[in-house]
Amino acid sequence: MVFSPLIAELIDALRCLPGVGPKSAQKMALYLLERDHQGADKLADSLRAALDNVGRCRRCRNLTEETECQICQRTDRNSKLVCVVETPADVVAIESAGRFDGRYFVLLGHLSPIDGIGPEELGLDKLKEFVAEDGVEEVIIATNSTLEGEATSHYIAELLKSSNIEITRIAHGVPMGGELEYVDGNTLALALEGRKKIE
Ligand SMILES: [Zn+2]
Repeated sequence: MVFSPLIAELIDALRCLPGVGPKSAQKMALYLLERDHQGADKLADSLRAALDNVGRCRRCRNLTEETECQICQRTDRNSKLVCVVETPADVVAIESAGRFDGRYFVLLGHLSPIDGIGPEELGLDKLKEFVAEDGVEEVIIATNSTLEGEATSHYIAELLKSSNIEITRIAHGVPMGGELEYVDGNTLALALEGRKKIE
């Protein structure tokens, strides 16, 4: 079946989403055009608004449309604790576990030389600044227990070694190769509590 150029373009654009192949992209495009104009309008508007306005928190690099994200703005969070995670979804996972009251630093990825992602792309100079300021006493590294997550954790531990703070790594409970986002809240809370000091 041959689609007109605008429809073909929409199908092609939808394929940028993770896990969406040509068949499902086609299905989504046709659904939006045929059956749910209102939904499609809302999708288009909110996508445009989010793209135009969402940036990174100047302090923790989490995604937000404000200069500082909601968590950084709060005064009741423990400013001595900083938890380093790979993605905004990890922040949501730890927040829903409900036992961590410190602040976060979001790498938005992990070290991956093959993809050209180095310390600069992860904002590690910013992490060093963050940790140096206002009384941070402990940095908990909660990157995924994948090879890349472990490599990133080692790098960060080395980087912060000279700062006079405790550096810990979340421990048991998170399976090897596991991504934080998919670990249940209780396990995550235990992993945070059982964190170990990185020598
Ligand atoms: Zn923030």
